[in-house]
Amino acid sequence: MNSKQKTELTIRNDYLAFGKPSFTAAEINAVSGALQSGWVGMGPETLSFEKELAEYVGANHLVAVNSCTSALFLSLLVSGIGEGDEVICPSLTWCSTANAAMYLGAVPVFCDVNRDTLCATPADIKARLSPRTKAVIVVHFGGLAADIDAIRRILPPGVALIEDAAHAIGARYADGSRVGSNGNLVCFSFYANKNLSTGEGGAIAVGSDEAIDRLRSLCHLGLSSDAWTRFRKPSANVRVGPAELGYKMNFTDLQAVIGRAQLARQEEMGKVRSDVAARYADMLAKLIPDIQVQQGIGLSHHARHLFPILLPLERLDVSRDEVLGLLRARNIGAAIHYPPLHEMSLYDQQATTLPNTDYIAERNITLPISANMTVTDAEYVMEHLAEILS
Ligand SMILES: *Cc1c(COP(=O)(O)O)cnc(C)c1O
Repeated sequence: MNSKQKTELTIRNDYLAFGKPSFTAAEINAVSGALQSGWVGMGPETLSFEKELAEYVGANHLVAVNSCTSALFLSLLVSGIGEGDEVICPSLTWCSTANAAMYLGAVPVFCDVNRDTLCATPADIKARLSPRTKAVIVVHFGGLAADIDAIRRILPPGVALIEDAAHAIGARYADGSRVGSNGNLVCFSFYANKNLSTGEGGAIAVGSDEAIDRLRSLCHLGLSSDAWTRFRKPSANVRVGPAELGYKMNFTDLQAVIGRAQLARQEEMGKVRSDVAARYADMLAKLIPDIQVQQGIGLSHHARHLFPILLPLERLDVSRDEVLGLLRARNIGAAIHYPPLHEMSLYDQQATTLPNTDYIAERNITLPISANMTVTDAEYVMEHLAEILS
């Protein structure tokens, strides 16, 4: 690979990281406060975080858990998914989406995505339905809400619809309502580089009263939802045991104080992401108009977790991987989201035909985007990308 391409432009000294989290004195002081309080497990801060987050996303109910992977697993579990059931999900996603089904003995069935939105479509999901289909997991790719209403309409009764909203906190559906507000099981991630970061963490938003009670119990060993209070008031509840076999997938107050501080900064951080994305889009249209960017759906609001572009490979004499290497040589932390799952041996589905996913997988690059970046950083990326591709 020729990563020593000549450049007329100056190369920055520091590496522009792909998705660096933004932590301020607010998060640092919050952690210090939690440590000083002596209570770092699941407790009152977790309940406050859940309440504030439910309000923010417009959910009836919400439970915080230890990751989005767990959130997806628990959502499938409460939807009754088990051995041999088929769960349709995109191949163009992080492995957690499909693995959540496999933990339950279910089989992920990969669907294709639209080339413009990078999200799953009703038509392609419909073509992959079988009598064994028990659930569909839709990914809001990069922070763009997929057309959930249209997908719901093509699903037979009894097929669960779960949203992988790992990228999509703060995003809005085509009708302008917030992702997480529609009553579906909607799973969020607070992993290190996600738009709201607690290091590790996740949450499930849901409409139904029964689902939330079961989820609260399942993520805490099958104990009743207020079991944590017994640590503080030992006399209240000493003999309570698990109602069913649950898991240890609960959130903690140490994470919750970070989450509350991050939630209070979502508008500010979202604005930075939007400004960076707007500058990217603007400069792409002027400098490299044959690069394809992700297209919106209706009145959707994009949370700008990722900024994916599709390279015009047909006119380039370099491959996508070479472009990636050249960007990195110029201290630009570009990445690939994602190597498609259907090509990986773990899933044993290499025979599945997904023409749009293959098309995207050959030419996609995600440009750095984070709440730490400036519009000047975005201009730096675009100037160098334009030079590399010229
Ligand atoms: C990050 C991510 C997950 C998993 O989130 P964790 O909180 O790390 O478990 C799931 N799906 C997608 C699309 C992701 O990007």
